[in-house]
Amino acid sequence: MTIWTCATCAIEHTDTTDPPQVCEICSDERQYVPATGQRWTTRDELEAEGFRITVVELEPGLHAVETMPELGIGQRGLLVQTEHGNLLWEPPGFLDNAGIEAVRALGGVAVVAASHPHLTGSSIQWSHAFGRAPVYVAAADRQWIRRPDPAIRLWEDVEELLPGLAMHQFGGHFAGSSMVHWLAGAQGHGALLAGDTVGIGRDRKSVNAMRSYVNNIPLPARAIRRILDTSAPLAFERIYGAFATIDGGAKDITERSLRRYIDWVTDTVPDE
Ligand SMILES: [Zn+2]
Ligand SMILES: [Zn+2]
Repeated sequence: MTIWTCATCAIEHTDTTDPPQVCEICSDERQYVPATGQRWTTRDELEAEGFRITVVELEPGLHAVETMPELGIGQRGLLVQTEHGNLLWEPPGFLDNAGIEAVRALGGVAVVAASHPHLTGSSIQWSHAFGRAPVYVAAADRQWIRRPDPAIRLWEDVEELLPGLAMHQFGGHFAGSSMVHWLAGAQGHGALLAGDTVGIGRDRKSVNAMRSYVNNIPLPARAIRRILDTSAPLAFERIYGAFATIDGGAKDITERSLRRYIDWVTDTVPDE
């Protein structure tokens, strides 16, 4: 039996002799199948092709755990260290022994979680490498689980993953799209680990939220209001997204740019 990984989204699938016919994640309207067609790979094949895990410190207590060269959707995983164990957020779609050892040297993994189905990568392989650490999946997104496993724990609304690390359900991009509020982040000012529950603008001075980022499907105003309302009680200075970071003033930036978003989708801006 082989653990098949979709070459486009780098999400692991159930162990089977033959690869699945389709990747449900990539054939959904929020993602895409490349013009060259659906292709599957495996961890061993990726390792033979030269993929490897790198671990780089972003700030005290936070490391990026990434696949090099870029693989699949290309997100960076984040390892948050706490006194009570570590969270691996948005696990890479690949893992190797050197990467496992580097993460072990930082205290290992107590909990695995992802913001939404696109960024679940090789969650179960990472969990199994660290004593079958629990893997949190939003109950609202359970139909997107590609590799069922006893380590999976369903959650909704708010879940304290570890003391000081609370996962909040915002919805929008996916019904279960979430962000983690890291109290100690940004030197104690608070940080959000956003996945693409909110996307970070190329200007690094704005955020946005889309049903599909790659096919440009927007969200309705009510979904944006829910993101604003859910973030309102949280203190945060910084946002670590799946691909970029807003270093400072992140809460003001979130409020300002999501209000602008609502203006644009509710016909309240003049023609230019
Ligand atoms: Zn896929
Ligand atoms: Zn996504």
